[in-house]
Amino acid sequence: MERNTEFVADPTLHLGQRILEKANEINHLAASLFDKYTPVKLFVELANKYRYIATADTMASQSRALLVFNKQAVEYDIDHILNNTVPHEMAHVVVEMLRHNGTLAPKQDHGPEWRSICSALGGGWQAS
Ligand SMILES: [Zn+2]
Repeated sequence: MERNTEFVADPTLHLGQRILEKANEINHLAASLFDKYTPVKLFVELANKYRYIATADTMASQSRALLVFNKQAVEYDIDHILNNTVPHEMAHVVVEMLRHNGTLAPKQDHGPEWRSICSALGGGWQAS
């Protein structure tokens, strides 16, 4: 049977898209849970051999955030990334935005306020 040659796209492009969709879901969930939180514009980047599993860089005054994920970790276990790491990083974004608008006082990362928000967004507590 003859087949047309298929163009095989970079599978991590697809994974990055799934991460962005999940992050946006949580972005809107957070807005429904927390009065003072307005969804931010999200950007997702997959980085090769990144030293972290993931980080969130929130530019609060511009109401946007860049989520960077370790590409190898994403390829290794996308479900863990979607179900744990994305909510975890989004909790950082929410905390940063609530600090920026004066709803939360500045506190250390992974403190009680962050943990409570992270749980509400469906995330685990392990650090990243
Ligand atoms: Zn963290």
